[in-house]
Amino acid sequence: MALKGKNAIVTGSTSGIGLAVAHVLAGQGCNIMLNGMGDKATIDAIVAELPKKYGVKTAYSAADMSKPADIRKMVSDTEAQLGSVDILVNNAGIQFTAPVEEFPDDKWDAIIAINLSASFHSIKAAVPGMRKRKFGRIINIASAHGLVASEHKAAYVSAKHGIVGLTKVVALETAEAGITCNAICPGWVNTPLVQKQIEAKAKEGNITVEQATANLLGEKQPNKKFVKPESIGNLIVFLCDEFGAEMTGEIISIDGGWTAQ
Ligand code: NAD
Repeated sequence: MALKGKNAIVTGSTSGIGLAVAHVLAGQGCNIMLNGMGDKATIDAIVAELPKKYGVKTAYSAADMSKPADIRKMVSDTEAQLGSVDILVNNAGIQFTAPVEEFPDDKWDAIIAINLSASFHSIKAAVPGMRKRKFGRIINIASAHGLVASEHKAAYVSAKHGIVGLTKVVALETAEAGITCNAICPGWVNTPLVQKQIEAKAKEGNITVEQATANLLGEKQPNKKFVKPESIGNLIVFLCDEFGAEMTGEIISIDGGWTAQ
């Protein structure tokens, strides 16, 4: 229970990586402000499951990460309902793929808002409280696409490279305040966000989903295995506990060798 009694916001924690991170942090005794889209029954079930399983408190914010006022309210609601924001995991994200000359303007705007600007707004709102308490851990979920590019992902790659820069600036500005700010760059993780891309590739190439999955991993990820979302959660635990205190401004890959190439 390395993080017993700490309070964490995990954005986009109704699915995929965010949900796994919420479970891993709760397993270490962290109270969680959950956030993300989804149907009410699924969200209610997640909000109820974590306290039952791990004996922690949970709350839920329906904040839309494309709306700065919602994000500010999510931070103030967490302070009011849980007492503080000790850990902020900026995870919510979306994807859209198209060649740059066909990339819809509204998709560009949405990806930049949710995958990049949301982290600026949440950090801006959470840092004053962290400074007051002289403790804070900010973890931005970037991507291998924060370090290298792939075609047809103009908005996603731009947003993820942006979050890498934001991470470094915030780390410098908070370095003496007991706050750390790091980015994690996962390779392929098998979540709904990636499943949609696999299914599109299968349809496009008239191949099975299994073949499309093997192609996807074979093209980028040398170990040919998906990254487990729990591995990302446990990396976050390390960054949040006392042994992570000297790590700040780091851009940490967990990608089966993708960016070693
Ligand atoms: P996912 O689709 O399973 O989950 C995304 C989460 O974000 C969901 O909870 C969703 O409700 C939430 N979300 C989306 N738009 C939102 C909005 N406007 N407001 C609030 N919440 C919103 O995807 P995932 O694969 O778990 O992705 C999580 C993060 O990890 C993203 O930032 C993604 O870019 C990053 N990432 C994923 C992979 C991968 O292979 N899956 C690799 C590298 C990085």
